[in-house]
Amino acid sequence: MLINVHTHKVTNGKCIVNLYRDFEKMEEHHFYSLGIHPWYIDANDEVQLDRLKYFSVKENVIAIGETGLDKACTTDFELQQERFIAQIHLANELKKPLIIHCVRAWSEIFQLLTTENISVPVIFHGFNKSIELARQVIEQGFYLSFGKALQNNSIAEVLKDIPLEKCFFETDVIDIPIDEIYQLATNALATDINLLSLQIQKNAETVFGTSFLI
Ligand SMILES: [Zn+2]
Repeated sequence: MLINVHTHKVTNGKCIVNLYRDFEKMEEHHFYSLGIHPWYIDANDEVQLDRLKYFSVKENVIAIGETGLDKACTTDFELQQERFIAQIHLANELKKPLIIHCVRAWSEIFQLLTTENISVPVIFHGFNKSIELARQVIEQGFYLSFGKALQNNSIAEVLKDIPLEKCFFETDVIDIPIDEIYQLATNALATDINLLSLQIQKNAETVFGTSFLI
């Protein structure tokens, strides 16, 4: 079983579909992560957060996010922080893992996760940064998810450097089978795809619980 921890549409394998709006479109037989993405925060929508809270309690919502901070987008940074904090609290309250979108705001995100006492597993999705930053994420007990960036040697090197117990794979917005991402990882690690997928299943069991894997 190949686990796709972050995608925006249903793919092959076992996937977690991310929705940042239209939460009512969820289907019962799929698993979801729901969150308010920093790009799509609506300052005038007073019930945006309430809507998220309402739908997030559903059993097939197994994570909160993607949420986080993005210094490359036009959304007011204060407002981003406010909504991010609210979603840290929501994840803690519902005991559901948090999936993070982070652009040029690593120290702010690390700090808020600490000051707001995150108590659930945290996955930084779409990782495409340096080994040093990856190590900082791992040292704090968080997880990394890799996608098509594994095509780059430097990101394949990051994957080789960090413990596999802290890894996930994803297709995100890219329209390819999850198998291709696993193949990139298998090549980078010079391992067997079955061994690799078994380890990722174990990770998923630790983070999302057994019901996701049935
Ligand atoms: Zn995404």
